[in-house]
Amino acid sequence: MSGQPEISVVVPVYDEEDNLPLLQREVTTAMESLGRPYECVYVDDGSRDGSLQVLLALRRADPRIRVVEFARNAGQTAALAAGFDHARGRIVVTLDADLQNDPADIPALVAKLEEGFDIVAGWRRERHDGFVLRKLPSKLANRLIALVTGVSIHDTGCTLKAFRAELVRNLPIYAEQHRFLPAMSAGSGARVAEVVVNHRPRIHGRSKYGIGRATRVLLDLLAIRMLSGFSHRPLSYFALLVAPFATLFFALALAHEWTRAGGGLDADGARAALVLLSVLAMVVVYFFMLGLLAELVVKASGMHGPGEARVLVKQMERGP
Ligand code: UDP
Ligand code: MG
Repeated sequence: MSGQPEISVVVPVYDEEDNLPLLQREVTTAMESLGRPYECVYVDDGSRDGSLQVLLALRRADPRIRVVEFARNAGQTAALAAGFDHARGRIVVTLDADLQNDPADIPALVAKLEEGFDIVAGWRRERHDGFVLRKLPSKLANRLIALVTGVSIHDTGCTLKAFRAELVRNLPIYAEQHRFLPAMSAGSGARVAEVVVNHRPRIHGRSKYGIGRATRVLLDLLAIRMLSGFSHRPLSYFALLVAPFATLFFALALAHEWTRAGGGLDADGARAALVLLSVLAMVVVYFFMLGLLAELVVKASGMHGPGEARVLVKQMERGP
């Protein structure tokens, strides 16, 4: 198959040499069953084992394979983002390289997407990972993410997902944020669906994550929540910050006037009151100016948060 691929399969790879040949066979079987032009974009995230050599050998055997190389390990989110940048299809499917996701699920995800959704997320209902360190934290995190973002998805951490390409190309992601793509986009009006997918135990290689991921995911959740609100209306955040200082300023000024009527403060008291009032006034003006600057930055950079993404989603082509 030559020409423009319709579907791009994006796979982040970090030390997965023993999984890649079988993965590639499974992806080929699944994608050929769809009968549509496709490509596989493997992103080697600075693997220290022979993953890159295996990928290059696979590429020699199949021109539909493309390999993006990182000079050092940059993390799964960065690998996915690079894959999005290089993907040429109008549909992008992501999956892990460790064979835990089952490529045989790809056709069902694509079919669901073409019913008119913008994102289809895989849901590992029967997950084959440890309970205490993986499944339980994941369950709690999914609940919390749903609560904070208002977008309820059973399994945000499942990499097996299908996207309309325009959507992922326009969302900046970093740190551990690939899991928030549905929540970030749904907040902007994207239509998100879920499909139950198969999940298998890891046979070769080791998981790259421990329980430490939980803190990073929580911090990312906080960052996303605050940034999406902040970049929408920075001045109102600063106004909130200014409010207590401004209140204190006026209360003190009134108190100062009032004591003056009743005989006044001594010289030291008056000096202290003046200093305090000037500091408060400066804080208020300073924060207010910062707020205005932030408002200008947001306006100039065109990042209006959810508002603008909504326009983007509305302009997207719908349906198959
Ligand atoms: N991965 C990556 N860079 C990293 C860590 C992981 O590209 O720094 C890839 C890894 O090769 C795998 C996927 O991301 O394809 C998921 O990693 P892993 O299986 O370790 O995560 P888990 O399934 O245990 O959550
Ligand atoms: Mg895994």
